[in-house]
Amino acid sequence: MPVTENLLAINVSSVNPLEEANRTLTVCNACRYCEGYCPVFKAITYRRSFDQPDLDYLANLCHQCGVCYQACQYAPPHEFGIDVPKALNLLRTDNYARFAWPQQAGKLFQHNPIWFSLITGLCLALLMYLSSLPTSLGKPVESGNFYAVINHSVMVIFAGLTFTYSIVAITLATRRYWKTINEKSTVQTNWTSIGKAIRASLALTHLSNQNSVGCPSENDQPSAWKRYCHQLTLWGFLLCFMSTCIATAYHYFLGIQAPYPYFSPPVITGTLGGLMLLAGTSGFIFLKFGQPRAKQMDQWQLDLTLTASLWLIALTGLVLMVLRETNAMPALLVIHLGFVFGFFITMPYSKMVHGLFRFFSLVLYYIESASSPANPIKRQT
Ligand code: SF4
Ligand code: SF4
Repeated sequence: MPVTENLLAINVSSVNPLEEANRTLTVCNACRYCEGYCPVFKAITYRRSFDQPDLDYLANLCHQCGVCYQACQYAPPHEFGIDVPKALNLLRTDNYARFAWPQQAGKLFQHNPIWFSLITGLCLALLMYLSSLPTSLGKPVESGNFYAVINHSVMVIFAGLTFTYSIVAITLATRRYWKTINEKSTVQTNWTSIGKAIRASLALTHLSNQNSVGCPSENDQPSAWKRYCHQLTLWGFLLCFMSTCIATAYHYFLGIQAPYPYFSPPVITGTLGGLMLLAGTSGFIFLKFGQPRAKQMDQWQLDLTLTASLWLIALTGLVLMVLRETNAMPALLVIHLGFVFGFFITMPYSKMVHGLFRFFSLVLYYIESASSPANPIKRQT
């Protein structure tokens, strides 16, 4: 990939994301003031120049804390206009579409992520409702009986198809990403590095740095709130998934059909997960979108779409649980499932893939870090 030699500031909105990331990191690699702030700055020291796979890898190592931007003496209004989080954010956005499967769907999603997600969710809700009409029409809707509204087989088919599509598309995109960033590495992938990456991902180790307790806020003060919101969202999402797995086991292995009592394991885990998800995403909306700088990021619409989708899923799920024995249940159920299945369809093109791309970038980072500084990772030319 040809790279620009021009180190002077250029307008980010009018440039190739790869060129801008290359220009920015080339300046950083000469300056190195931010060494030690995060894995990005350690990883750049292993390279004299950056090719496309390097830049893709480095972009996904960044979690956009903003510490380096606050510290940078070359940040705007300096003529170099160095803004590492913004340049890497721009490239990550490009990554999601470039590695997506199919690529056209990724581009279409990025064209207008908010409308794409909303229309997908509503279309699925309508389609699912219409598919259930032949079997549910004319039958009384018993209070709390979801299957009287959406036929169980219809629900399973929609859930199975959308979830399988999501897993296949995400797996293919991640495989493509890993092959790209790892293609020149001559160091074997090992379980120690994978274990470290799992630990760092679950504990969000790098969402703070050695100099502060967390990411700087708009007023430059370090704050751990972004990390808390991240943890609430991640673990809330996993608890909701666990609740679905328990409910599936109840249905198929124990022969117990929904609705389940309020104090049963699927409802307790689902409620706890929903509350954590709602709290985490509400915090994100408050923290990120109340800050003018967040809206300058190329990716803010993608951020908002993912956060708002999870927020809507959590909210409709909790309201459905509370009102499941009222006349509002049928409409709430259809809307909630529409958003959930729509989320599965759009997940491979949304910012959700950053979780996996970042995880594999961390694996490569720990492989590189295990090499001694005197003998850094060897990359074929
Ligand atoms: S962000 Fe600025 S201060 Fe930090 S290494 Fe890059 S150029 Fe230097
Ligand atoms: S924004 Fe944070 S994570 Fe990204 S390069 Fe700068 S210090 Fe590292």
